[in-house]
Amino acid sequence: MSARKPATIAVRTGIESDTQHHAVVPPIYLSTNYGFPAFGEVPTYDYTRSGNPNRGLLETALFELESGKGAVVTNCGTSALNLWVSAFIGPDDLIVAPHDCYGGTYRLFNTRSQKGDFKVLFVDQSDEQALADALAQKPKLILLETPSNPLVRVVDIEKVCTQAKQIGALVAVDNTFLTPVFQKPLELGADFVIHSTTKYINGHSDVIGGVVITKTAEHAEELAWWGNCIGATGTPFDSYMTLRGIRTLGARMKVHEESSQHILAYLNEQELVGTIYHPSLPSHPGHEIAKKQQSGFGSMLSFEFAGSFEQLKYFVGGLELFSLAESLGGVESLICHPASMTHRAMGEQALAEAGVTQQLLRLSVGLEDSEDLIADLEQAFNKAKEAF
Ligand SMILES: *Cc1c(COP(=O)(O)O)cnc(C)c1O
Repeated sequence: MSARKPATIAVRTGIESDTQHHAVVPPIYLSTNYGFPAFGEVPTYDYTRSGNPNRGLLETALFELESGKGAVVTNCGTSALNLWVSAFIGPDDLIVAPHDCYGGTYRLFNTRSQKGDFKVLFVDQSDEQALADALAQKPKLILLETPSNPLVRVVDIEKVCTQAKQIGALVAVDNTFLTPVFQKPLELGADFVIHSTTKYINGHSDVIGGVVITKTAEHAEELAWWGNCIGATGTPFDSYMTLRGIRTLGARMKVHEESSQHILAYLNEQELVGTIYHPSLPSHPGHEIAKKQQSGFGSMLSFEFAGSFEQLKYFVGGLELFSLAESLGGVESLICHPASMTHRAMGEQALAEAGVTQQLLRLSVGLEDSEDLIADLEQAFNKAKEAF
């Protein structure tokens, strides 16, 4: 049978797998430990840190969605990144990461490199020369985050993977923004895919989780060993919840995408909106690459607020359907001011280098009716205009 489509994998993984009572939906196993069938006979699961049926099903769903060979589900996206570096890098090795990566990823790599755990170079990966200079230093690992956060810059995954192979570097793509519904990095040559499943994968803003998915079974085995060793694995309850969230991934991503297109068209007409950042826009520098490597543009977008900073605060405060909050990818729409929220740990200089200004606002377009979302933006823009 030909490979199943993502929506089918998302809905069907583990369905009708219960052999005891034939429960259609797989039951949750909260037990921390499992009996040995007989002296010296090791069961499939013995202790939940190293393995659990619910986590196992979630791992299967995730690696099948990404066309990988294995996965380790972790207790958050950050610990997935930490697991990846713990397993594959040492004090003399270099990791090349995006200069505008997720704020927590920046903090993790920066802090651990300062402790001497490894070396790190943050570069603008959409700048070919900067990337070539970084690769000339022979990194062991390369992290891509495309589209990036918050400026949705796009990096050519296939091209970087080809260059990485020539120097023997391993590439991981943080695919949190698009999910396998819209982008399949392993098929483009990457060795690993990392997700904060907290975002679109779970999709309901009620579970923190992460995963590293591997292209080879060998890497999966190594990661599973390390996941158990450093205690990074996810809990049964969170795994159960996340698999429940995944059931609707295909349907959710479609609506996220459609609504974002309506909102982009609306924002494009607004006086108080300056540059809009979204890969679907022909003016976006990564538009052509996005068309090549993505099957959807995603529903994360940001824009420069073209009024004063006081007006910006008024606009944000006036919104009723966009919650002012960090995170993204849930059913509810969110607005975020990266410089004072998600990216504040970066410090002023790193923010400036990454192009994150005080005027930048990021939207995570949720699943409310897009006409209501647009009406809400409209009334908040009007409030901001009338107040000054
Ligand atoms: C949220 C996020 C992370 C970190 O994941 P947590 O689950 O919050 O630890 C990493 N990368 C990206 C792109 C994210 O959005």
